[in-house]
Amino acid sequence: MTNGSTSAAEQTTRAGDAGRYDAVIIGAGFSGMYQLHLLRDRLGLKARVIERGDGVGGTWYWNRYPGARCDSESHSYSYYFSDELLKEWQWSERYPQQPEIVRYLNYVADKLDLKRDIQFETSATAARYDEKANLWRVETDTGETVSAKYLITAVGCLSSANVPDIPGRDSFKGQWYHTGQWPHEGVDFTGKRVGQIGTGSTGIQAVPVIAETAKTLTVFQRTANYSIPAQNHPLSDEFKTWAKDSRDEIRRTMHASTNGHPFLISERKVFDVSAEERKAIYEKAWEVGGLRFRAEFQDLLFDKAANDTAADFLKSKIREIVKDPQKAKVLSDIDHPFATKRPPIDTGYFETYNRDNVSVVNLRETPIVEITETGVKTSDGEYELDIIVFATGFDAMTGSLLKLGIVGRDGVTLNKAWEAGPRTYLGVQAVGFPNLFTITGPGSPSVLCNMPVAIEQHVEWVANCIEKMETDGIDRIEPTEEAVTGWVDHVNEVANATLLPQAGHSWYLGANVPGKPRVFMPYAGGMARFRGICDGVAAKGYEGFVLSRDSADSRTEAVNA
Ligand code: NAP
Repeated sequence: MTNGSTSAAEQTTRAGDAGRYDAVIIGAGFSGMYQLHLLRDRLGLKARVIERGDGVGGTWYWNRYPGARCDSESHSYSYYFSDELLKEWQWSERYPQQPEIVRYLNYVADKLDLKRDIQFETSATAARYDEKANLWRVETDTGETVSAKYLITAVGCLSSANVPDIPGRDSFKGQWYHTGQWPHEGVDFTGKRVGQIGTGSTGIQAVPVIAETAKTLTVFQRTANYSIPAQNHPLSDEFKTWAKDSRDEIRRTMHASTNGHPFLISERKVFDVSAEERKAIYEKAWEVGGLRFRAEFQDLLFDKAANDTAADFLKSKIREIVKDPQKAKVLSDIDHPFATKRPPIDTGYFETYNRDNVSVVNLRETPIVEITETGVKTSDGEYELDIIVFATGFDAMTGSLLKLGIVGRDGVTLNKAWEAGPRTYLGVQAVGFPNLFTITGPGSPSVLCNMPVAIEQHVEWVANCIEKMETDGIDRIEPTEEAVTGWVDHVNEVANATLLPQAGHSWYLGANVPGKPRVFMPYAGGMARFRGICDGVAAKGYEGFVLSRDSADSRTEAVNA
């Protein structure tokens, strides 16, 4: 047992003795931990977290691949609900590395004494709504069933690894790994012939690190990608002091910003400035680095001609950095507008292709045919490999939810209800699943936002809603079909007003997983606007939801209709 947590055996006994809770929370990442804190410590509820890993961290517990680092700036990648946590914790770099984030989350879990209510090494295998008892019954792989009035899924948006089912994959005699299921003991690439499939945010972080020790690294690229240098660096004492002293101001900025970052999107438009000025702005933003680049102009995601100016600038940078013209051509042949797929940021990604031991294979020209015992075979021939790294992303936003085996009212499964794509109200609830709350679910800003900001908003909204239910003696909450349809239409409308759907192969659309319905999943209307909408809904007595109470003769009456 790691991290000083309660042993699974002790936990099992405790849960077995008293398997009835007010709330069961699935997942002990940023969301589940904060949800536990609010429900237990603010509302005084009996709450239990079920967590698959043997420690806290969620996404960051699993994504231990080489180079794993957060793309949000560390001073914004923190819980902001507690001044004490903000004052005590100190990040070391502009962008925190995975081990530092896991250390941070352990610090928070210990500080708030959360681990005693987290049942580690336990997966939820089914969650059924018992209508008569108005309880969610959650079955686990440890053979227990726990039940609660409220079920909160805090399973993360990017937790269900997508390992492509390439013919012959299991015949490979070397080792293969998915970046999201990385071995805790690490992987030694020294002297090995490594193949990496995938060039998203993850792959782009992994390439420079793997290349340092591998004998050869062959990158199999299906879609060329933009990337902006992170310009990572250790934080100066001056900055650390400023971040602590300015936490109220930083919080205000994050809450006011579209993407929950500690900077606002500029009000200027691309063609408000001359070509020379624009070039200078892009050059400066490149030097500053990171996601701030896309905040330089307000119309980059709305106007294709405006976007082209950023895209052309970034492609020219690739051609400047990568010395081999053939490699440069493959890497800069990008087919989608800038930032319509999640924009990666990197540390020496394109520079790594100047190493003799690194090559790139253009899968658009020579697709993978199969994986053989000895390597990857494309239409152009076989690449012999010792290790294959799948940096192939996730069954995002819905994958982990649909794996939970959720069965709602009248025996309808979530998988059935979302057959044609996820349908939620505010990303938090779905019709037919009373008292089931989804943290940063599809239909919420989630992955388009700095995650802790999106998480805090959703977790607090859910806690406030539950508090009202408990205070007013409400038995259940569920959205109306009308509210869900209205919200799904709104989510589509705001996405379609942007260039985001133009990246037809994006995971935002579910396009990376064969057979997944193509629905734009995150809410692109901006975090600040979303927060206002959610607050408004609550202020109007949970408009769009039906809150109901069982009467003494077992009739159910709506109390806010
Ligand atoms: P991703 O963005 O989905 O990228 C997956 C890559 O694998 C893409 O290049 C994709 O190509 C390729 N791929 C997938 N299936 C393939 C197949 N069958 N054959 C060949 N290529 C295949 O996944 P990711 O890089 O793990 O990133 C996912 C998200 O996680 C990010 O967008 C970001 O939100 C988050 N993330 C955050 C951080 C951070 O904050 N530091 C770091 C990493 C990831 P196509 O593009 O053609 O599909």
